[in-house]
Amino acid sequence: MGEVTDVVGEWVAFLSRYCRRELAEIEREFPFKRSLYIDYQTLQASGRSGLRLADEMIDRPGKATGDIRDALRQVSIIGEDKIGRINIRFHHIDRITGIRDIRAYHITRFVSVKGIIRKTTEVRPRIIEAVFQCPGCGATVTLAQGYGTFEEPENCPNPECNRRKLKLIPGKSRFVDSQKVRIQESPEGLRGGERPQTLDVEMTDDLTGMIAPGDRVVLNGVLRSKQRVNYGTKSTLFDIYLDCSSAEAPEREYEEVNISEEDEAAIRALSREAALYPMITGSIAPSIYGNLEVKEAIALQLFGGVAKDLPDGSRLRGDIHMLLVGDPGIAKSQMLRYVVQLSPRGVYTSGKSSTSAGLTATAVKDDFGDGSWTLEAGALVLADMGVAAVDEMDKMAKEDRSALHEAMEQQTISIAKAGMTATLRSRCALLGAANPKLGRFDAFVPIAEQINMPPSLLSRFDLIFIMTDTPDKARDTAIAEHIVKAHRVGELILQASAGPLSEGHAELLAAESVAVEPPIAPEVLRKYVAYAKRNINPLITDGAKEMLIAYYLRLRGLADDNKPVPVTARQLEALIRLGEASARIRLSPFVEARDAERVIKIVDTCLRQVAYD
Ligand code: ADP
Ligand code: MG
Repeated sequence: MGEVTDVVGEWVAFLSRYCRRELAEIEREFPFKRSLYIDYQTLQASGRSGLRLADEMIDRPGKATGDIRDALRQVSIIGEDKIGRINIRFHHIDRITGIRDIRAYHITRFVSVKGIIRKTTEVRPRIIEAVFQCPGCGATVTLAQGYGTFEEPENCPNPECNRRKLKLIPGKSRFVDSQKVRIQESPEGLRGGERPQTLDVEMTDDLTGMIAPGDRVVLNGVLRSKQRVNYGTKSTLFDIYLDCSSAEAPEREYEEVNISEEDEAAIRALSREAALYPMITGSIAPSIYGNLEVKEAIALQLFGGVAKDLPDGSRLRGDIHMLLVGDPGIAKSQMLRYVVQLSPRGVYTSGKSSTSAGLTATAVKDDFGDGSWTLEAGALVLADMGVAAVDEMDKMAKEDRSALHEAMEQQTISIAKAGMTATLRSRCALLGAANPKLGRFDAFVPIAEQINMPPSLLSRFDLIFIMTDTPDKARDTAIAEHIVKAHRVGELILQASAGPLSEGHAELLAAESVAVEPPIAPEVLRKYVAYAKRNINPLITDGAKEMLIAYYLRLRGLADDNKPVPVTARQLEALIRLGEASARIRLSPFVEARDAERVIKIVDTCLRQVAYD
C-alpha cells in the first residue's frame, strides 16, 4: 500500500509553487493566452516527486495531462469553465531523440526532435468536437474527432427514432486551428551522402502559423500513430506523426559545430602559422590538382564577409557568391561536393535533378496537406547560414532563375500564391557550377548566352571563374600523375584496412599520400570556419580602403560595354566582402593592405575573363 502516491496532489504542489503567475495570467487574458507551459527542467529539479512527475510526463503524457487538469481544479486559479479548454504544453526537454531513431517504442510517449522545417501547410480549422442533429426528432449527439478520418454516428441515439444520416451542425461544433509541418534532420548532423529523414508534425491552436520552412527548431510532443488504409482496407502498418506540444529555438550547441576550449586553443595556434593561407587552400579538395585560384576563392567563400544591418534598416549581405563555368570533366562537381563537407551548413544540389521544391521554394497543393496548399523549402532555404552548392545551374527551372535574383541579393525568397504569402530566409553563399550549352566554352561568345543565365543574374556573383580545358602537355602530365597518385593512395588505404601492408607498400603510401592529404583535416577546418564566422567581424583599415577604391576606379575606367558582365558598384561590394573573408581567415579584427592585395589579385583574374581584356 505504501506504493500509492498522490500524483494529483504532487501536481497541485508543483503548480502552486512554480506556475502561479502564469496561471493568473491565463485567467486574466483568456482566450488570448490559453496555453500553460510546464518547464520540464524546473519540474525535474523540483525534488523527488518532481523527478517522478517528469518521468511520467515522458512515458505517459496523456495521463499526466489529465492529472494536471485535475490538479488545476484544486489549485483553482483558473476558472472551472476554462480548465478543459486550455492547452497543457511542456517545453525545455533536455533529451533530444534523433528523427532516424524513432521506433514503435516511442508511440504515445513524449519525444523531442530537432531539425529544419521542410514543409508547412496553410492554417486551417480542424473539427475536434462534432455536434450532429437528427433531422427527424431533433436529438443531438456529440462525437470527439481525432486526427485524420471524420467519425460520424451510425444512427439517431433516440431509440424511438433511430434514423440514419444525422446532420453536422458546424455552429455548435468545436474547431481548432491546425497546421501540418514536416521536419527534417539538420544537414550538419549527417555523414556525407546520407539522406536526411523526416517526421510529420501536427500543430494546433496557438502553435499554428508560428514557423516557416527553413526554420531550425526543436519540436516537443507526443508521438502518435495512425493506421494506414489501402484502397479502403485497413492495413496492419501504421504511420507516425508528432502531436506537437511546443516549439522552441535550438540551443546553440545543438545548432552548430561544437567548439571546445581545446579546439579554440588549436584554432588560435593554427591562425598563427606562417603558411596559413596555402595550408587552407591546400585543404580544399586536395585530390584535385591545381586550380589554386579557384580553391583560394572557395576558401574565402567558406569564411565569408560580414553581414551588416544599417541604420536605415537595409541589410548588406556578407555571403560571397561564386560561379564556376567551364568545360566538362575539369572537376567542377568534385569541388562542389568537397565544399559542402567543409561548410558548417552545406547543401549540395543539382539544378537539373532538384526536388520538387527546386532551388528556392514552391507552393503546391498536394497529398501532404490533404488538398491544402503546402509551402516547401528548396536548397537555398535549407542552406540558410551555410553554403549552397548548386551543380548544373544552366539546367535549372525557369521559375528558379527568376526567384534567384531576390534570393542572391536580398537573401530572402518571397512566395505569394493562392492564400499563402511568406518570406523565407536564404542567407547562404551560393557556389554554382555551369556547363556551356555547346559542350565547350567558346571564348568569342558572351557567357550569358553560353550558360543560359541573364546578365542581371551573372552580376550578382562576386566571382565568376571560367575554367577551360585546353591540352597542355606539362599540365596534363601533372594532372595525370596526381590522379594516379590519388587512386594508388585509395587502393593502399583499402588494402591496409584488410591487413598490414608490405614494407614497400607502406613506404609508397607514406610518400604518395603527402600530395593528396589535406594539411588541415576536414573536421578541424570545419571548426575553424565556424569559429571565425562566429567570432571575427573585421573592420576595413584606411590603407585597405584606399587600395580597394583605387582598384575599383581603375576597373570602371577599363570597363567595356560590350562585355557581358558590367562593372558596377557591386564589384566594390564584392571586394569588401572578399577582403573581410581574407582577414577572417587569419582571425584578424582588421582588413589590412595584404588582404586588399590578395583579393584584388583574385578579382582581377576573374574579371579579365569576363569584363575586360
Ligand atoms: P565536371 O563537373 O567539371 O564536369 P567532374 O567534377 O565530374 O567534372 O570531374 C571529372 C573527373 O575528372 C573527376 O573524377 C575528377 O576527379 C577528375 N579530374 C578532373 N580534373 C582534375 C584535376 N585537376 N585533378 C584531379 N582530378 C581531376
Ligand atoms: Mg559536373
